[in-house]
Amino acid sequence: MLFSQIIGQEEVKKKLIQSVRESRVAHAQLFLGPEGSGSLALAIAYAQYINCTNRGENDSCGECPSCKKFNNLAHPDLHFIFPTTTNKSVKKEPESDLFLTEWREFLLSNEAYAGLQDWYNTLEVENKQGAINVRDAATIMRKLNLKAYESEYKIAIIWMAEKLNVTAANKLLKLLEEPPEKTVFLLISENQEELLATVRSRTVLMKVPKLPSDVIQNALVKKCACDNEMAHNAAILANGNWNLALNYFHDSENEKFYSNCFQKWMRYCFRFSAPELIDFIANDLKPLGREKQKEFLAYGLNVFHNAILFNNGLRNNVLLPQEELAFLNNFAPFVSNKNIELITSLFEESINQIERNGNASLIFMDNSFKIFNYFKIR
Ligand SMILES: [Zn+2]
Repeated sequence: MLFSQIIGQEEVKKKLIQSVRESRVAHAQLFLGPEGSGSLALAIAYAQYINCTNRGENDSCGECPSCKKFNNLAHPDLHFIFPTTTNKSVKKEPESDLFLTEWREFLLSNEAYAGLQDWYNTLEVENKQGAINVRDAATIMRKLNLKAYESEYKIAIIWMAEKLNVTAANKLLKLLEEPPEKTVFLLISENQEELLATVRSRTVLMKVPKLPSDVIQNALVKKCACDNEMAHNAAILANGNWNLALNYFHDSENEKFYSNCFQKWMRYCFRFSAPELIDFIANDLKPLGREKQKEFLAYGLNVFHNAILFNNGLRNNVLLPQEELAFLNNFAPFVSNKNIELITSLFEESINQIERNGNASLIFMDNSFKIFNYFKIR
């Protein structure tokens, strides 16, 4: 991970780079920042910079043997510990080492902008809460007492250090205070209050502020190629959290897609044009797959319900992008208090049928025919 891949945080990057260039890397540091601020990504980029053999003024080279291993998060002198718990594949005595493959894939998929809940979802741990336990502490101690394999420094990254349980923390305290030679601990935490005071007092603090919304907006435009208005809305809602901004962006992108699809579908239903419908269902709806077909129907149902609000003088209660409002304005007169019940049960039944693996092409064709007829009931 390069510093240049990290969103914003120029001040923090500058301090980290300076500490390496002036050879005053503290041996235990605490990166404290809210979710989505990029503190884990910063710690990884920092670790890579420390061990890069051809480091530039502002970033790692990205190409030396050390950097190449960092690119896959598979450097033998880079160690991770993080919260874990039991799941389907690890039924007892969970510890970070048992989840390293999933962990690397997880970080590579989100560029190390990891959220704790997303991590738990990846592990499919259901509602269980994870912890960093004494087995993690023992394993990391064993590893750090060995000589570095390839690099000058061994680096241990402890993600969500507030999840260290008391026994694990106590085991690590001495190591944090007097680490083996050429060892750096980088602790990541979102919540200083939950962090054990004994751990906090043994680290040098690096505050990672929440991202300003204009920085998030620009990053969305650049990374997702979305328009400025969409990026602006997602950035405001995200309140400094890059992970949330991406979620909002993907939601609105989905909504835009469903909205286009739905408008097309309704046009074909109106003129009940069988060839157009067959073509549309085969090319646009069938390839979506079951989950998205259900979401699409739920989206459609919502449009019908908004039409009823529109017809009953509650336009102000319908919050939608301009383009969808314009469609609704023309569409609403075809939805009435008489046909809404029929449409609602039709869509709900279709969602159930798709859930039960029904033939999507037949279901959508049947729906089209019925909608054509329901539009005549007003
Ligand atoms: Zn390098």
